[in-house]
Amino acid sequence: MKLYRLTRDEAPRHTGNLNAGHKWNLPGVDWSQPCPTCRLGGGLGALYYPCVDPADLPEREKFHEPEPVPYEEFIRLRELVRPLVPDWAVLKPGAAFGPVEGSGLGYFGQLFMQNPWTLYARREALERLQAAGVRGLQGCPIKVRFRQKNHPELLELQLELHGQFHPECLSPDRKPICPTCGSNQNPLPKKFWPEASSLPKDLDIFRFRDAPGFILASERMVDAVKRLELDGVVFQEVEVR
Ligand SMILES: [Zn+2]
Repeated sequence: MKLYRLTRDEAPRHTGNLNAGHKWNLPGVDWSQPCPTCRLGGGLGALYYPCVDPADLPEREKFHEPEPVPYEEFIRLRELVRPLVPDWAVLKPGAAFGPVEGSGLGYFGQLFMQNPWTLYARREALERLQAAGVRGLQGCPIKVRFRQKNHPELLELQLELHGQFHPECLSPDRKPICPTCGSNQNPLPKKFWPEASSLPKDLDIFRFRDAPGFILASERMVDAVKRLELDGVVFQEVEVR
């Protein structure tokens, strides 16, 4: 199977910029009261669940731009959220819920990436991709005030997390994953590739579970984007073994 990484099209006409972020998060873990096993916090970036409505969060004020909390309290809050998120979700400190909030300005393509780990689509682009049979696209509302007339209706995509590093790209002297909190103290391998058997067969776009900042797409997604002439992102083939 062929697999591609999505990144933003850096062509000059793509001037779109969102000065916006998620306001609802799992808190970080306070360094003075950390995980009892590894003594570390252990967050992971790019864990976004924009389709989870913050109004549904129990004790919701504790998730609004939270300060770090002791490890035990983090676990309690994490389990309050668990019933609200899909079963493929990973819940670590900093995992974010609900819409991004802020302002936006500029030209946004049919697809838009503010950075390599967030993907947005205009509503009409999302509907055309879904009609073309592309699987794995779930659009969630955003709360962005555009500082221009004629702005697009952008949706943030909630992407499932799948896939593991191929064992050969992991250093033999890497530290083990903490059995208590799941924290991984190893840096990202310099070069890595997903293990083919760990990849989903029923999705055409997803986040790489072992490195969630990477958004990956199947050849079917790439073909649909090209056929529909959707702009805003570029695709780079990644090695799979
Ligand atoms: Zn730990």
